[in-house]
Amino acid sequence: MDFKPFIRDIQDFPEVGIVFKDITPLLKDAQALNNASNSLYDLINSKKIDKVVGVDSRGFIFAPMLASKLNAGFVPIRKVGKLPYDTISESYDLEYGSDTLEMHNDSILKGEKVLVHDDVLATGGTAKAVCKLVENLGGEVVQCNFLIQLTFLHGASKLKGYDVKALLNY
Ligand code: IMP
Repeated sequence: MDFKPFIRDIQDFPEVGIVFKDITPLLKDAQALNNASNSLYDLINSKKIDKVVGVDSRGFIFAPMLASKLNAGFVPIRKVGKLPYDTISESYDLEYGSDTLEMHNDSILKGEKVLVHDDVLATGGTAKAVCKLVENLGGEVVQCNFLIQLTFLHGASKLKGYDVKALLNY
């Protein structure tokens, strides 16, 4: 299935100069949603996965679907201050300033095999921070899995050494 017709470009969102890839047309279409979830699952290529880590907030849409198909658990990574239990955190640089992501400190066990999922890979700063969080708890990142990769932003170069896969490349 060609998913690109279901991805909408929004000019100047959330800031002037940014062209935002809006995935909601794909999400609202029953067949596209189901096919995208199956195709993301196929990218994993039967690798053993214990936990699927999804990134706040659009990473929370497909990550639990993948976890269910993989018979794995789901772990949320959230923006700072949102998780209720004890957390570990990782900060990363943005174009202006920095951001911090958190994960519960009991969410991954040493040696567990982890799939990292998010909707979009842009500059790679977010995914890199997520990989560090997983590894700080002793998890092994088996794949970084995205619906969309904005290849012109070269995010994959920040994720050298990881298996980076995306359903759609722009
Ligand atoms: P990065 O850290 O620059 O790779 O940005 C990735 C994060 O920003 C992900 O969590 C995405 O959800 C979000 N993001 C960046 N660009 C877009 C976009 O065009 N559409 C949707 N989300 C985006």
